[in-house]
Amino acid sequence: MARIIQKYGGSSVADLERLAGVADRVCQARREGHEVVVVVSAMGNTTTELLSLAKELSAAPDRRELDMLVSVGERISMALLAIALRERGIPARSLTGSQAGLVTDESHGDARVVAVRPARLLDVLGRGEVPIIAGFQGVSREREVTTLGRGGSDTTAVLLAAALDAAWCELCSDVDGIWSADPRVVSAAKRLEALSLDEALSLARGGARVLFEDAVQYARDQGVELRAVATFGPGAGTRLTVQAHEPLGAKAVTGDAQLVKVRLGALDRDGAIEALRAAGARLRRRRGERLYVDVRHMHGASVSAVHRGLTVEGPCAVVTAVGSGLGQRLSDLERGTASLLEAGLWIVDQGAEGDVAWWELDRGQLDQGVEVVHRVLVLGQPTPLEAQG
Ligand code: ASP
Ligand code: MG
Repeated sequence: MARIIQKYGGSSVADLERLAGVADRVCQARREGHEVVVVVSAMGNTTTELLSLAKELSAAPDRRELDMLVSVGERISMALLAIALRERGIPARSLTGSQAGLVTDESHGDARVVAVRPARLLDVLGRGEVPIIAGFQGVSREREVTTLGRGGSDTTAVLLAAALDAAWCELCSDVDGIWSADPRVVSAAKRLEALSLDEALSLARGGARVLFEDAVQYARDQGVELRAVATFGPGAGTRLTVQAHEPLGAKAVTGDAQLVKVRLGALDRDGAIEALRAAGARLRRRRGERLYVDVRHMHGASVSAVHRGLTVEGPCAVVTAVGSGLGQRLSDLERGTASLLEAGLWIVDQGAEGDVAWWELDRGQLDQGVEVVHRVLVLGQPTPLEAQG
């Protein structure tokens, strides 16, 4: 018998029929002898809908009140799932983030968890009940309701897995695991059996949206095995493990078309970088005085307004190939570069380090770049010149 966490995303609980399917899946895990802890997201698009209600009343709603509002989404699903489980004879008990012991800082809307106090959860488990926890929320040290940022239910699940010493944490969604590339971009992409958490983190940082970066980082730092699986359907999903797997080399390719290139001024470079981070920007790469920055999570301010020493050069797009030790595999890098050039793509810049190799391309050629690199490095097909012998 293993203690496991199952986290169900919004699409898995989008309506009562699917919610009932989730209840059946939890029952199944119990029958297999597991001690199950469930974390739920809000039903379907509830969070977005609640946010837009507030936006109709105010252009800049108070952040504390917004947290009060959106935390309700997950509470609806937790109570409904507990009711559905009780109907099936399973003693389930719903708990808010606060009741489950997730203590956060005071930053409404993107709070960071500072402590997990699972005493109450352990009581519930000790009585043989199934705790159903509202994802994405906690309680601040000032005793206010806080939320962890969009997609934060994954974070809840991973933190609870670490605090409860779970054997693994299932992230259940509408996609069957992690693929070697986005199948909407690369039709030859295939599901990955397993991936290391380091590789998964590099993939998320490279722009793969199936993975929630913060949660993967917590899992990596705390050594929590993740399993990305489809809630409904036979797929085997992908195991994200602490250890790397053979064969080494490129396993997946992703692209990010929404990066911004920023130039650092001569003075106070550390201060400028610190200011960017504090504003919610994520520094993806540094090349001398040039930064590649992901601005999707910035709190409103524009990059140039954050610090005087920063000049925005413009948007840019980067293809990233990921695989354990890839950054040191020179022949793979050369083949990746050759494949892009032989396909007639313009490489603005390129580099390699750790588990990644990357190429900055023209924005309009990003998808093609992902396909080309995937074909040569993941599928192992020859580049056009190699094929000519
Ligand atoms: N319901 C929240 C959101 O939509 C959190 C989550 O789904 O993980 O962002
Ligand atoms: Mg959601």
